Amino acid sequence: MTHAETLKAAGLTQAEITGGTLAVHSPIDGALVAHVHETNPVDMPAIIARSQEAFKAWRTVPAPRRGELVRLLGEELRAAKAELGALVTLEAGKITSEGLGEVQEMIDICDFAVGLSRQIYGLTIASERPGHRMMETWHPMGPCGIISAFNFPVAVWSWNAALALVCGDPVIWKPSEKTPLTAIASMKIMERALKRFGDAPEGLVQLVIGGPAIGEALVNSKDVPIISATGSTRMGGIVGPKVAARWGRPILELGGNNAMIVAPSADLDMAVRAIVFSAVGTAGQRCTSLRRLIAHNSIKDDLVAKLAKAYASLPIGDPRKAGTLIGPLIDAASRDRMLAQIAKARAEGGRVHGGEPTEGVAGGAYVSPALIEMPAQTDTVREETFAPILYVLGYETLDEAIFIQNDVPQGLSSCIFTLNLREAETFLSAAGSDCGIANVNIGPSGAEIGGAFGGEKETGGGRESGSDAWKGYMRRQTNTINYSAQLPLAQGVKFDF
Ligand code: NAD
Repeated sequence: MTHAETLKAAGLTQAEITGGTLAVHSPIDGALVAHVHETNPVDMPAIIARSQEAFKAWRTVPAPRRGELVRLLGEELRAAKAELGALVTLEAGKITSEGLGEVQEMIDICDFAVGLSRQIYGLTIASERPGHRMMETWHPMGPCGIISAFNFPVAVWSWNAALALVCGDPVIWKPSEKTPLTAIASMKIMERALKRFGDAPEGLVQLVIGGPAIGEALVNSKDVPIISATGSTRMGGIVGPKVAARWGRPILELGGNNAMIVAPSADLDMAVRAIVFSAVGTAGQRCTSLRRLIAHNSIKDDLVAKLAKAYASLPIGDPRKAGTLIGPLIDAASRDRMLAQIAKARAEGGRVHGGEPTEGVAGGAYVSPALIEMPAQTDTVREETFAPILYVLGYETLDEAIFIQNDVPQGLSSCIFTLNLREAETFLSAAGSDCGIANVNIGPSGAEIGGAFGGEKETGGGRESGSDAWKGYMRRQTNTINYSAQLPLAQGVKFDF
């Protein structure tokens, strides 16, 4: 399909893709595919006010009924999966199965949220006072601003929106300025669900297009109590303090520097498969991509040889083509950053395999993935480079491996490959990995939506998706009810008059 046919199949009209000020290029070949209309910053107060109005109505709609809207969204996404997946490929450069996988993730979170809409519950707590009952109630918070990154251009929105909507919160989405087309197409899918739902308040789900200035309008508004921001630690470092300064609630999902420890007992063939997918999948542009391999000195050379062989066989090129496993980087600037980091690593004593510009489709930024044996965990290794660079480090004892794994500013995802129970449990223990995600015999990327997703330290501390991440979108109220004819005080305090 041509780019124009892909845009049309995803339901985008000429009016939506022409005449605007935001140029959109496809990473596949660098082609200019659209000029999208940006939201005027002066309109932001009215957009936020509409969201507040919608909140007044939506917060009193019973949660299972709110779940019906998300169920319909899931249905509409199922119907549009192929077209939206192809648009993700066009706009973010993901290979076909990953583009489709991203839409599947949207469907999965909808299913989760529909079930959740009948499972929003609080505790009943024993009161110390006779004739009293204590309980927790969870209430909607208000508008949720969603700022998303280019690399999961639609799934991140759905993780937040599906939960926020069943929790009773309207949403305002500011997608990455690099991927507005998938956002517009997703919004059209949402509109079909809203139409079928019937009586949702106007302004319940809104989309704003633009760069950081538009995001900042959400970040700075007291009328947007929740800001869920996904992106670089640089962005989180600006957004987090601003939201905190106005007493809002930030949910921050920022950069990772994810590691795998490979122990002497590991099933190396399995480890190699996991390493290759985690390190080069999505061209190394996942927040959970494997960036550091910490291999026991006794197996390190063997592992590097196996990986170098596997890397040499990976098909790089047009992400739409069957068989391609590595598509393009998002743009030339990203490729230049990768090459600069490789040069820095080399200067720090790194032995580099791969990591070169490669032919793909003319106009796109294609690279071979880099494998870099490092003498130590240097400053360059401690940084997240959003590209397929895998640094390899050696270790002697498990304590040393865990120290290296934790000795970076980020704390998103981690894993160990071992068949030794003591090593696995130590890695998962309080003295083990300090990340939000820690796996055994599974790579660090490709999380399921059923678990809470997020990380510690400079990754931001936010949690999204499954488990009880929904609580981040609601306010907790503690209720004490006195059904006695007395008024006893807690802690035995007497106040008779
Ligand atoms: P980015 O930080 O450049 O941009 C992310 C979003 O933030 C964009 O929508 C951008 O417009 C917006 N933004 C930037 N500055 C802002 C500001 N001052 N105020 C408000 N909004 C602002 O990130 P990117 O290049 O699009 O994405 C890659 C990064 O995202 C990587 O670091 C990756 O690890 C991270 N990421 C993290 C997760 C996670 O769940 N932890 C998921 C996906 C991506």
